[in-house]
Amino acid sequence: MKNILVTGGAGFLGSNLCERLIREGDFVYCLDNLYTGKLKNIEILLENKNFEFINEDIRTFNINKLKFDEIYNAACPASPPAYQKDAIYTLETNIIGTKKMLELATLNNAKILQFSTSEIYGNPLIYPQTEEYWGNVNPIGIRSCYDEGKRVAETFCFDYKRQKNTRVKVIRIFNTYGKNMDKNDGRVISNFIVQALQNKDITIYGDGTQTRSFCYVDDLIDGIIKMMNSDDEVTGPINLGNPQEFTMKELAEIIVNKVSSKSKIIFMDLPKDDPTKRKPDISKAKEYLKWSPTITLDQGLNKTIEYFKEVLEK
Ligand code: UDP
Repeated sequence: MKNILVTGGAGFLGSNLCERLIREGDFVYCLDNLYTGKLKNIEILLENKNFEFINEDIRTFNINKLKFDEIYNAACPASPPAYQKDAIYTLETNIIGTKKMLELATLNNAKILQFSTSEIYGNPLIYPQTEEYWGNVNPIGIRSCYDEGKRVAETFCFDYKRQKNTRVKVIRIFNTYGKNMDKNDGRVISNFIVQALQNKDITIYGDGTQTRSFCYVDDLIDGIIKMMNSDDEVTGPINLGNPQEFTMKELAEIIVNKVSSKSKIIFMDLPKDDPTKRKPDISKAKEYLKWSPTITLDQGLNKTIEYFKEVLEK
């Protein structure tokens, strides 16, 4: 049995990961200060003898207390409204938090997997995005606390590897959706589904021609675990995402049809620095991890609609 630390373990991705690791027979410590994470996401896990919840802030957590074999560093608010609400906190979580987790991994000779992001590429000028692309990021804009924070976190990982031989692994996660998303988190799939189920206006930002590529959470978790289980030489960064690309207008129409909603689609201002096109090149994930997503948008949306129906009924 491995001792595993998941930071941000009560969040959307973190809680899905904790569930999966417990099912595989590991002992999971879940660190989360519930800034955006939710206790309800880990409610069933709290009763499991192989699960311990640590309600602490990653920036101040006492790193010498516990011993780990593996660390998944997922702590950080991830939806644009959530990470912009307290931008300094977001930056500190990425910078101070990642440094602390790298120190802890080094001390334990543990593997550490950093949850990085397609936001590393900013508003990308190449298409689809490969890991070699250095990105087109505004350093002083409203998304910078997240984008630059995550970029520094990657820099930290590779400097720890070079200077201290820390066993780092970096994945760049593209848009992901599914169970345990917060209905109010502000991301496009949760917004559109909740709006459609409630017959409220579907809010497209801009003209809806911007694109995203959406990965269902179960596929992503498979890829994340494959990355952790790969040899130490496989450090990444490796893109994880589903290359099926859609405009936000297409997405809105698909969801309205699926829900048979009476909602009408309205157009609102496009937020600043909103990337216009995003699609992962996942050749590296295929080559090094033998991973590619298997769940289509159609299948994933069906599951996610069912999930949000239950959430709204409660
Ligand atoms: N978006 C939208 N309506 C919403 C929420 C988001 O049209 O209610 C757009 C947003 O402007 C962006 C895309 O959907 O172009 C994806 O946004 P999200 O916040 O999910 O993630 P991002 O990829 O921007 O981090």
